Amino acid sequence: MFDLKGKVAVVTGGNGGIGLGMARGLAAAGAGIVVAGRNVEKSEAAARELESSGVKTLPIAVDVTRDADVANMVEATVATFGRLDILVNNAGINIRHPLHELDAVDWHKVIDTNLTSAFLCCKAVYPVMKRQGGGKIINIGSMMSIFGASFAPAYAASKGGIVQLTKSIASSWAQDNIQANAVLPGWIDTDLTRRARETISTLHDNVLRRTPAGRWGTIDDMSGIAVFLASPASDFVTGTAIPVDGGYAMQG
Ligand code: NDP
Repeated sequence: MFDLKGKVAVVTGGNGGIGLGMARGLAAAGAGIVVAGRNVEKSEAAARELESSGVKTLPIAVDVTRDADVANMVEATVATFGRLDILVNNAGINIRHPLHELDAVDWHKVIDTNLTSAFLCCKAVYPVMKRQGGGKIINIGSMMSIFGASFAPAYAASKGGIVQLTKSIASSWAQDNIQANAVLPGWIDTDLTRRARETISTLHDNVLRRTPAGRWGTIDDMSGIAVFLASPASDFVTGTAIPVDGGYAMQG
């Protein structure tokens, strides 16, 4: 039920953090992995690590905000593996300012990287998945898909948008046997949150206090949900947004 042998997954931002955690799970279940990110060295290192699971990988330079890069990513995947079954829209950034201090350039950067990228990638994989008779799309939201964030309005808007985009795709492509779901990570220890912890001195303790599990998540905490949502085990699960957060979202 969780076997992904013979399947191929594209993971944007798969060269580190949550994307790498998800890619590890998918590779361990047998999927070939396309590691898509801007930093080629980082992508090649992640691909080498994933190959130790015995799967084929393709590290590829992609800026997910660029339509041409995304088209090339899908073409290269099909040329290398002959198929594309799973898309993980994980690439993301945050620029922290309250709205009155956020300039429009930074607003667009965050929305383009976190939300428009998912639109571009989903649109690009659709013909391949349709032709193959189905597929799995996993979009990465956030606790800020649920809660507001005074210090990150563009980020929160992008992550709220991801959930609504997921529902629209799920409903539009259900008849094509494509399931689309969002994952909402809690606070996970990655480069992104390490930078935040350096600038916000209270963040670390606040996360520990607010998270019922009493710890930060690790990138390997993200592997299981990726396998579930990419595998036949979730064939009747679509349009959902699943928190993976140590219980963070259940508390008021
Ligand atoms: P990291 O900073 O560790 O990873 C971000 C990844 O995105 C990198 O692999 C980076 O690769 C890639 N990326 C960024 N911009 C682009 C771009 N324009 N084109 C292609 N790839 C890009 O962060 P996380 O692992 O923490 O974050 C991953 C996702 O999880 C994001 O969407 C984030 O919003 C979300 N998230 C994270 C949480 C956390 O607590 N860590 C909580 C909730 C959600 P490269 O630099 O090589 O391009």
